[in-house]
Amino acid sequence: MFWASESAAASLEEVRRFGVKAGQLGIPGELSLEGQAGQWQQALSAQPDIAIATAFCSYRGEDYADIPTVTRTVGLVPHATRAERLARTKAVADLAGQLGIASVACHLGAVPPSHEGKAYREMRDLTRELCDHCGEHGQSFGLETGQETAEHLLAFIEDVARSNLKVNFDPANMILYGMGDPLEALELLKHRIVTVHCKDGVRPDPEQPDALGEERALGAGSVGIPGFVQKLREIGYTGILSIEREEPDAKRRAADIASAVQLLRQLTGRI
Ligand code: MG
Repeated sequence: MFWASESAAASLEEVRRFGVKAGQLGIPGELSLEGQAGQWQQALSAQPDIAIATAFCSYRGEDYADIPTVTRTVGLVPHATRAERLARTKAVADLAGQLGIASVACHLGAVPPSHEGKAYREMRDLTRELCDHCGEHGQSFGLETGQETAEHLLAFIEDVARSNLKVNFDPANMILYGMGDPLEALELLKHRIVTVHCKDGVRPDPEQPDALGEERALGAGSVGIPGFVQKLREIGYTGILSIEREEPDAKRRAADIASAVQLLRQLTGRI
């Protein structure tokens, strides 16, 4: 999982240095999309061994400080920024379409409970609209897991009733947000998973109900990465293993990603 910068060639070179062949391209909310298609077409043709599985859309103004802040600022749930972010998601899908990227994903924000009526229906209708927009480019639209339970996410997906609505499964998020066991969630959502994040973390402090858990280097948290990879094998998952590491220190982050590549190579027998 890597992020687009002002230079597509530099972003892709960063990925290539880890010796991996595929990734997910994050599009920061602050990035102007003007001229990006041409830049990325050029960068991708210069690195033909790297494929992009997903365009991951994030938005200006999102803040992951703690659970109430996430609820207030993340994804398409907050009203104040909804129209702007809906338009942005469609624009990112259009850019991804120009680059032949088959999937678009985002954090939708915590899906409201169905008994909330209007708030729930608005999110359902908006998700349909995004699925239909992505469908015009032959893309799936993926929802990141973790901000609600897998049961609630699955019920919502069934209610949206669009065959191209998929899941970007992040096992660490289930832990960080205290939303249940990731392997049970994987079993429940298995027919909808299009991509996965290989990310790890520990549960929040139970005495601080608003706190998120802490993200950790792959293998150093509570996911149980060998069991996660084994479970992916059991459910017949054939998509990419996208390493996600949010460590702010660039040097440490790069070292953790390199270790994660090694760990996944060992676990998948590709060493
Ligand atoms: Mg993730």
